[in-house]
Amino acid sequence: MLSAINGSKLAQEQAPALDVARRRQDFPILQREVHGHPLVYLDNAATSQKPWSVIEAERHYYAYYNANIHRGVHHLSQEATDAYEGARDKVREFIHAPRREEIIFTRGTTESINLVASSYGQGLQAGDEILITEMEHHSNIVPWQLLCQRSRTVLRVAPIDDAGQLITEQFASLLGPRTRVVALTHMSNALGSINPVKALVAMAHRVGAVVLIDGAQAIAHLPVDVTDIDCDFYAFSGHKVYGPTGTGVLYARSALLEAMPPYQGGGDMIKEVRFAGSSWNDLPYKFEAGTPNIAGGIGLGAAIDYVRSLGLNAIGTHEADLLRYATEQAHDFPGLTLVGTARDKGAILSFTLAGIHPHDVGTILDTRGIAVRTGHHCAMPVMERYGVPATVRASFALYNMRHEVDALFRGLVKAQEMFA
Ligand SMILES: *Cc1c(COP(=O)(O)O)cnc(C)c1O
Repeated sequence: MLSAINGSKLAQEQAPALDVARRRQDFPILQREVHGHPLVYLDNAATSQKPWSVIEAERHYYAYYNANIHRGVHHLSQEATDAYEGARDKVREFIHAPRREEIIFTRGTTESINLVASSYGQGLQAGDEILITEMEHHSNIVPWQLLCQRSRTVLRVAPIDDAGQLITEQFASLLGPRTRVVALTHMSNALGSINPVKALVAMAHRVGAVVLIDGAQAIAHLPVDVTDIDCDFYAFSGHKVYGPTGTGVLYARSALLEAMPPYQGGGDMIKEVRFAGSSWNDLPYKFEAGTPNIAGGIGLGAAIDYVRSLGLNAIGTHEADLLRYATEQAHDFPGLTLVGTARDKGAILSFTLAGIHPHDVGTILDTRGIAVRTGHHCAMPVMERYGVPATVRASFALYNMRHEVDALFRGLVKAQEMFA
């Protein structure tokens, strides 16, 4: 087992470098123009583009074997069930989860976190504490606030430093005997900061807390091994890892899932239904009420096949090169302030330009076919921490190239000229 894991890590490390020009052909949208310019898509932290294999997987399901799953004895239903459950196996392997019943399909990271807050949250008592960090996405803040309102539990927030890194000593000092849940991001969507999740999980476990990792960003940029991280919950969305929207995953330890009450009631999540009371289906189905996004789940499986065929190490190496290249230009750019300069950082460049509102920067870039995100990036507390209303965010994916970074900075020069 161990040698198999080492073997696959080694294989990934030796994976050939990405042939990015070739891989761009896999993404039909990258052929299009916007406002008369070739599309430069730098909004990957919001959602990534989809390769043909994902688009085709969904189309193929609808065209040739569309049927509801888990219920029919007929042939199409069996084919659809095999494909959907096959995608679950792909997810399990991809994140190195021990068991397939620990993979719950959801609508996305947001629903995965809400599931844990609602269901696991029912076991918390007034006065229990939930610890998050200052760099969380709203979807890893608000579900816990709702839980605190319902259960009179207490939300604590571990602060970040000026570079956008979690302050480990402060995190440690906020852990205590009342800490029941720690929920933190693997990689920040607003800053790019990557948290040392394995060490943080070990610290939280020492006080007896369970740990949920928000992997919405990390899943597309870093190899994720939930067994190695030793987290209790890991949440991510399909659409940020080249898969369909409306798909997501919650990994959770089976012992926790067994003890947790259902999240939603309905078809497929039950064993027996009587008016006097019902009993619950086995895992993972206990947490999957109703007809799921079957096509999306199959598409997510195709996305994972695609990413694994390239290797996250090769993808990460390429993206790190783009980030380095962009960061160097950013340092030389007059009036540009980077927001988020963590030592360990994913391919996200968040910044402000002196004298120009981020929305104006984004609008000018758009006229040149360049898609960036401007705003608070669903992380208003991060904006508050830096005293800015918004930033411009360029975020990279496996198909971005250096000439697109150049186009971004030419667009910024143009913005400055227009506002001079
Ligand atoms: C995108 C994102 C989310 C929310 O994901 P949804 O797909 O909108 O549910 C949560 N956390 C982080 C870090 C994200 O980047």
